[in-house]
Amino acid sequence: MAPISRECDFLVIGGGSGGVACARRASSYYGAKTIAVESKSLGGTCVNVGCVPKKITYHAAAFAEAIHDAKAYGFSVEQTAPFDWTTFKHKRDAYVKRLNGIYERNLTNDKVEYIYGRAHLVSKNEVEITLDDGRKEVVRAKKILLATGGYPTMPKDIPGAEYGINSDGFFDLEKQPKKVALVGAGYIAVEFAGMLNALGSETHLFIRHDHLLRTFDPMVQEIVTKEYERQGIILHTQSSQSKVEKDETTGKLKLHYNDSKGSGVLEDLDTLLWAIGRTPDVEGLGLENIGVKTGEKGHIIVDDFQNTNVEGVFALGDVCGRLELTPVAIAAGRRLGERLFGPEKFKTARLNYNNIPSVVFAHPEIGTIGLSEPRAREKYGDDKIKVYKSEFTALYYAMMGPEERGPTSYKLICVGEEERIVGLHILGLGSAEILQGFGVAIKMGATKADFDNCVALHPTSAEELVTMK
Ligand code: FAD
Ligand code: NDP
Repeated sequence: MAPISRECDFLVIGGGSGGVACARRASSYYGAKTIAVESKSLGGTCVNVGCVPKKITYHAAAFAEAIHDAKAYGFSVEQTAPFDWTTFKHKRDAYVKRLNGIYERNLTNDKVEYIYGRAHLVSKNEVEITLDDGRKEVVRAKKILLATGGYPTMPKDIPGAEYGINSDGFFDLEKQPKKVALVGAGYIAVEFAGMLNALGSETHLFIRHDHLLRTFDPMVQEIVTKEYERQGIILHTQSSQSKVEKDETTGKLKLHYNDSKGSGVLEDLDTLLWAIGRTPDVEGLGLENIGVKTGEKGHIIVDDFQNTNVEGVFALGDVCGRLELTPVAIAAGRRLGERLFGPEKFKTARLNYNNIPSVVFAHPEIGTIGLSEPRAREKYGDDKIKVYKSEFTALYYAMMGPEERGPTSYKLICVGEEERIVGLHILGLGSAEILQGFGVAIKMGATKADFDNCVALHPTSAEELVTMK
């Protein structure tokens, strides 16, 4: 082992959403001597290969949709050239690079030292870091945070699966695929298929069952699945893949599959994208050296306060596998920083994981908070549940023919006589922005009467949520 080169109060492994938030809180608010280690790029998944470049691409797709829709409003907009994916991609990369710099500056301003290298636990107070140039150094720390996130899962038993890419690889694509297949039914498959289709790629989506987003309320599952087919995404339900082949001359892929219609081969694919979930990044972290417990899928097991089973060692964010969202990792990180290094009043600080809102940047957007209808019925009993639903056509579509109109669908799930809202599910234009405010209300324990007492904003889609019968 290399000699100990630095000592600190707090060593944070992983410079992503959760690690950076926790390190900055510990150092800048409470003066803990803090070091953060990052093996790739500061900002982690969200900044480099997640939320940020994804949402920028989503905006590009929204422009494509707006250009199309503008005709219905009397504009004679014609695209004189195809979407310039390559220029767009390079501008998006430049923006991400700028953010990496901002992350570095924020750490410096908050007096957090940062080291680029891969960290490996040697003991519960010592971490060996393999630096980018191959040198090694050892840091001794009083407390250690594991915030190493995850990476996209790839199939293990499909010959040729490696010819496909995953969400990380999507952001490296220099050219827009003309024909693309995606496998998966979760957040990433739904978001990426929607964007690629809106931007004009021939988009095939392979799902194992009959619906997208199967962990969401049935209303969302059914409508988004139907709507994706209406928009021209070619859905392969009850599908599995048996082989992928690559033509070395053209680079095109051939996907052998089975779906509800039988077996088939999809040829001439420019891109195949696996979006079948994520794996916690614990490889080479040395958890076994100090006995940190992990679950079935490798996630680090923590209690409600982000404590692992090893004293002085904590974990949060995607590596723990509970609600893999940036604001969740950030909130857990800030609370932990407060609890470990803050004043007495924060000694029980922790993130409450109940009623955390989440959005899918689908086409159209989806927002959800609280329980789905089946979960609410299971938890409280059918007789305690009252469901309010509304399906309508947003005014935006007024100038368009029936075949051009997208769905808007809202659902409130209420419990008991006072009709406390325990689930809110919305699908339609602007749902992501709408959800944040309603999330505050639900977190405060709002009832249906509270919603009804708020005067509607007209004409909006959101007003339906305060006028439901
Ligand atoms: P990460 O951000 O993954 O950070 C972990 C860091 O640790 C990485 O930078 C990694 O390089 C580093 N690391 C790993 N091992 C070591 C080691 N041994 N030594 C040193 N460093 C190490 N969430 C949302 O809320 N909204 C969205 O719109 C959204 N979109 C997404 C889109 C995509 C395509 C993906 C993949 C994710 C998206 N997410 C979104 C999820 C979000 O990005 C993650 O929940 C969030 O980044 C998790 O933060 P984290 O700190 O736990 O991990
Ligand atoms: P998800 O867990 O959301 O979805 C993966 C889905 O893929 C599964 O639900 C499953 O659906 C399907 N699947 C799993 N294995 C296979 C397989 N072998 N073949 C075919 N399909 C399979 O993972 P994602 O990768 O989409 O995203 C990871 C996480 O990142 C999300 O859970 C979310 O927390 C976060 N994220 C958040 C975003 C946001 O906030 N807007 C955006 C993107 C990611 P089924 O069981 O129906 O087959």
